[in-house]
Amino acid sequence: MEREILPEELFSEIARLRREVETLKLEKYDLEILVETITEHADAIEVELRSRNQEIVKLNHQLALANKELEQLANVDGLTSLANRRHFDATLDREWKRLAREGQPLSLVLGDIDFFKRYNDSYGHQAGDECLRRVAQAFEQASKRPSDLAARYGGEEMAAILPNTESRGGIHVATEIHNFVESMKLEHTASPIHKYVTLSLGVATIVPDLKLPPTRLVNQADTALYTAKKNGRNCLVFFRKGL
Ligand code: GH3
Ligand code: MG
Ligand code: MG
Repeated sequence: MEREILPEELFSEIARLRREVETLKLEKYDLEILVETITEHADAIEVELRSRNQEIVKLNHQLALANKELEQLANVDGLTSLANRRHFDATLDREWKRLAREGQPLSLVLGDIDFFKRYNDSYGHQAGDECLRRVAQAFEQASKRPSDLAARYGGEEMAAILPNTESRGGIHVATEIHNFVESMKLEHTASPIHKYVTLSLGVATIVPDLKLPPTRLVNQADTALYTAKKNGRNCLVFFRKGL
C-alpha cells in the first residue's frame, strides 16, 4: 500500500526540481553560447576558405599566363614573331619522324634576302629590322596549313616547314613567298639587281627515312638556295642531285 506523501517531502521535492530546472537553464545557456561560437567559427572558416579558393584561382590564372609567356620566349623569335630556330629544329625533328612512319613527303623552303648587308648599310639597322618583319609576313601568310611552320632560321634567312607536301606544293609556297615580297615593293636602292628587296629561295622535298637525320633536308634546301644565289639571285631553285 502506498504511503501518504508528507507536505515536507513535497516541498523538498519541489525545491529539488527547482534546482534542477535552474541547472538545466544554465546548461541551456552554455549550449546556446557554444552553438553561437561554433557558428561564428564556421562562418569565419568559410570566409577564409572562399578567399583562399579565390587566391588559388587567381594564382592558377597567373601561372597559366606565365607559362604561356615562357613558351613564347622559348619558341618565338622576338623580332619577327615567327617560330625561332629552337622551335624550327624541334618541329622538323618531330615531322621527320612522323612522316617517315607514314611514308609521306616533307618539303622545306629556305629563303634569304638578297644583298641585305647593303640594305642595312644604306638604310640603317632599324629599317633592316622592319624589312625583316615584312619579309617574315610573307613566310607567315604563305604557310597556310595548320601543320605548316614559318620560322626565322637565322639572320636574314627564313624557312617554311611543309609537312605532307609534295615538291609541287613546296614550289607553290615558295613562289607565293616570292610574290608576296615582290608585291610589298620595299625600296632597296643599294641592290645591284633590282630597285626593290628581293629573295632567293631554295626548296627541297623528301619522304623522310628514320635512318637519315632531318639535316639531310636542310642541306638539300640550302644547296638549292646557294644555287639560286649563284644563278643571279631573286629566283627559286628546287633541289635535285648534281646541283
Ligand atoms: P646575299 O645576297 O648573298 O644574301 O648577301 P647578304 O648581304 O644578304 O648576305 P650576308 O650573309 O653577307 O649578310 C647578311 C646580313 O644580314 C648581315 C647583317 O647585316 C644582316 N642581318 C642579320 N640579322 C639581322 C637582324 O636581326 N637585323 C638586321 N637589321 N640585320 C640583320
Ligand atoms: Mg642575304
Ligand atoms: Mg644570309
